[in-house]
Amino acid sequence: MKVPMLDLTEQYQGLKGQISEALDQVMSKAHFILGDNVKSLEQDVAKYSNVGYGVGVANGSDALHISLLGCGVEEGDEVIAPSFTFFATAGAIARIGAKPVFVDINPKTFNIDPSKIEAAITEKTKAIIPVHLYGQMVDMDPIVEIAKKHNLAIIEDAAQAIGATYKGKSVGELGTTACYSFFPTKNLGAYGDAGMIVTDDADIAERMRVIRVHGSKPKYYHHVLGYNSRLDELQAAILNVKFPHLDEWNNLRHEKANTYTELLNEQLGDKVITPYQDENCHHIFHQYTIRVERRDELQAYLKEQGVETMIYYPKPLHLQPVFSNLGYKEGDLPETEKACQEALSLPMFPELKSEQQEYVVSKIASFYKGE
Ligand SMILES: *Cc1c(COP(=O)(O)O)cnc(C)c1O
Repeated sequence: MKVPMLDLTEQYQGLKGQISEALDQVMSKAHFILGDNVKSLEQDVAKYSNVGYGVGVANGSDALHISLLGCGVEEGDEVIAPSFTFFATAGAIARIGAKPVFVDINPKTFNIDPSKIEAAITEKTKAIIPVHLYGQMVDMDPIVEIAKKHNLAIIEDAAQAIGATYKGKSVGELGTTACYSFFPTKNLGAYGDAGMIVTDDADIAERMRVIRVHGSKPKYYHHVLGYNSRLDELQAAILNVKFPHLDEWNNLRHEKANTYTELLNEQLGDKVITPYQDENCHHIFHQYTIRVERRDELQAYLKEQGVETMIYYPKPLHLQPVFSNLGYKEGDLPETEKACQEALSLPMFPELKSEQQEYVVSKIASFYKGE
C-alpha cells in the first residue's frame, strides 16, 4: 500500500465544477487585482476570526512581514519567537533588520513556553510572535499578560491554525494581528501562494492595506515604504469555493487524529508519544506529529513500506547558518533541539482512509517489534 503525506486530488474532484466556474467568472469580468473575490474572502475570514478586518496578501510570509511593519517594528528592534517553527517566522523579523530572539518550547505542545518569555525581554523588545504549531494554539493568556505589562505587540503566526481555538476564542482575537497562509498544503489551501492578516485594530489594518500596495495612498503618493504583496483574485476565487468546507475538513482531520492516537496507544504503548491535546484548545491537526526514538531509521523503514512521513523541523532556527550572526550555539534551547531529533509527522489530510491509517500504524509497530 502507498500512503502519501498529503493528497489534494480527491478534494479537487469534488469541487471541480464550482472552481472552474469561479475562475471563469474572474476571467470574464477581467478584474484581476483586489476585486470582489478578495474583498469577500477578507470579510469572511475576518468574521470567522471574530475580528473586524482582513487584509489579503501574497502569502503567509508576507503576512508576518507586513504585520511587523504595521505594528511599527523597525530596524534594530527585537522580536521574540520560537526557534521550533518554519523559517518564515524568523525570516520576516530579520528581513526588516530587527533581531529574532528565540525562546524554547514546551515539550508537550511543541509551542513556545510562555514561562520563558519574560527572561528574553529587553528594552528593545517590540513584539512577540507566538506560532500555533501543527494546528494547536499557544497558551495565550500568559502571553497577553506579558505583552500588556511590557507594551508589546502580539503577532500570531497562524499559518497552520485556521479554525483552531483557545478557551473558545479564535486565532486573531487575542493577538494584535494574526497571519494566515493559504499555501496549497495548509488546512485552507489555494492553488498557488496566498495569505491574509486579520486584526481588530482599524488603524493597523489601514496601514497594512497601504503597505501591500507600495505604500501608496492616495494612489501614486507614497508616505511609507511598502511593496507589492496582494492576494491574487484568482486564488481568492478558489478560496471562496473552499472556505465553506473548512470546518468540515478540520473535523475530519480531528477524527483521523483520534483514530491514529487510539491505534498507536493500543499497538505501541509508550514506544510512541502521541500528540498532546490541551483541554483549553481545539486542535485542527494541520500535522499529526509523534515523538519517537530512532526517528530517522523509522522514517527510512516507513518509506520502504510505501509510507511517506515528514520531519517538521529537522534543524532549529537558532542553529541555522543564516542566523549564525545571532551567536546561538548548540544546547541553548534544549527542548527545541530534542524535538528536532524526535518529531515525525504522519500522513494527514481529510480524505485519508482508515485502511491507510491502520497500515501506517501496523508498519510503525513492526519496526519496533522485538525491542
Ligand atoms: C507555511 C508557514 C508560513 C509561511 O507561509 P507561506 O504562505 O508559505 O509564505 C509561516 N509560518 C508557518 C509556521 C508556516 O507553517
